[in-house]
Amino acid sequence: MKMGESAKTTVCNNCNAKNAEFTLICEVCGSELGPSLTKSGPHADKVKDKLKRRYQKAYIAADSIVLSGGIVKGAGYLAGFAIFLGGAVGGIPVGIWITGASLFAILGYVVGSVLAAIGQTVMAALDTAVNTSPLLSDEDRVDAMRLRGSQ
Ligand SMILES: [Zn+2]
Repeated sequence: MKMGESAKTTVCNNCNAKNAEFTLICEVCGSELGPSLTKSGPHADKVKDKLKRRYQKAYIAADSIVLSGGIVKGAGYLAGFAIFLGGAVGGIPVGIWITGASLFAILGYVVGSVLAAIGQTVMAALDTAVNTSPLLSDEDRVDAMRLRGSQ
C-alpha cells in the first residue's frame, strides 16, 4: 500500500480487499468492516468526528424546524389579532372579521404544529440513530446530541 492510501481506504480483515473509506460492509466478501473502525486510533477518531458533526448539523436543522413552527404559530395569532382589531375598528360586519381572525389563528396553529411535529420526529429519529450507532461511545453520543452544557 502506498503512503496516504490508508486515509482513503478501509482494508477488509477477512479478504484484505480495499474498500472505500467509511464503508461498513466489504464490497468483495460482504463481511462487516465496522468493528475495525471502532478500534481506537486516528482513523477511528476521524470517523467519529465526522459522524458527530453530521449528527450535530442534523440536530441544528431539526431544532430550527421546531423553532419555525413556533414562529408560524405566533405569526398566525398575531395576524388573527390584527384582523380582530382592524375589524372591530373598521366597521366590517362582525361575522366576517371574527371568521377571518379565527381562520388566521387556526391556520397558524395547524401549520405551526405540523412543522413542530416534523422537527420533533426528525429529532426522535436522530436520537435512535445516535443511540444505535456502533461507532459512537456514550461520550460521543452526548456530543452528537449536543446535550453537553445545555440546560
Ligand atoms: Zn472482504
